[in-house]
Amino acid sequence: MSGSSDLDALLEAAREAIARADATQALLEVRASFLGRKGSVSELLRGIGSLPAEERGRVGQAANEAKRTIEGWVAERKEALERSATDDALAAHHLDVTLPGTGSPSGSLHPITQVTREMVSFFASMGFSLEEGPEVETDWNNFEALNIPPDHPSRDEQDTFYLEGGHVLRTHTSNVQIRAMTGRTPPFRFIATGRVYRHDLSPRHSPMFHQIEGFLVDERVTFGDLKGVLLAFGRHLFGDDVSLRFRANHFPFTEPSAELDYSCTLCAGKGCKVCSDSGWVEWGGCGMIHPKVLERCDIDSERYQGFAFGMGIDRTAMRRFNIPHLRHLFEGDLRVLGQL
Ligand SMILES: [Zn+2]
Repeated sequence: MSGSSDLDALLEAAREAIARADATQALLEVRASFLGRKGSVSELLRGIGSLPAEERGRVGQAANEAKRTIEGWVAERKEALERSATDDALAAHHLDVTLPGTGSPSGSLHPITQVTREMVSFFASMGFSLEEGPEVETDWNNFEALNIPPDHPSRDEQDTFYLEGGHVLRTHTSNVQIRAMTGRTPPFRFIATGRVYRHDLSPRHSPMFHQIEGFLVDERVTFGDLKGVLLAFGRHLFGDDVSLRFRANHFPFTEPSAELDYSCTLCAGKGCKVCSDSGWVEWGGCGMIHPKVLERCDIDSERYQGFAFGMGIDRTAMRRFNIPHLRHLFEGDLRVLGQL
């Protein structure tokens, strides 16, 4: 192997092999096969010793030149491979900043909170202010001061959660009446909302539910005032076509007392599942505050009269949002709540 044609063929083979190398490792192997200790070019250089003296210089020079040429191609190819590897990596992690974001799901107020706020804001517009009371209450504020006698069925352990020290979980928001009226001089009008508790668990009832309570005390207050306020409230919530029905009843803390129904908004009074085919939906209770309750709050019952009413918030929320089951309000299932 001495002719320049051999060297040309070797260079051509190297050029092709280098161009074919598609990764750095493959390129290093190609380089070793030509320039390594056992590579073709090295072999060629080793063979120079057996050449005639006059040819050694020329062939040696050509072989060394070929070696530099191959080194140059390898370096070029190596750089090209590294550049394309960088391009591939960039392409794989390509980030299009013009694409719209996925965003995080936004929360919303619970239907009970929404309805409660709407109710409170209605009464605020009528001059009622918001009062609060505790959920763990004394027997006096929950029963005694409200003229609920010791033998009244609502005091039964079947109905009331009793706690240590004679406390109860309030069975209604009426405890706020006692707290708000005691030590105050009429006229005043208050509204109270919150959780109340009864020993009752069935598909139609929850042991914890929400009530709204309103009461007003002034001179010359009549049942007509109560009806006027409740009718305005009913129309605000259920629309101008709604009718109210007052059914005489008995509560210890009001006299006279009435149960309150509104005309079914689903069937417009014709009768449906929601109103049990009666055309009316039970809403709450109301009446004129019993003089004994006023007296227990140190209010002159000869001079002042008052009315009070209370209703469940949960069922009102069910009607407003068309929620078929009470449990949907309390299970905290975001798939359900997210639709409301
Ligand atoms: Zn109906």
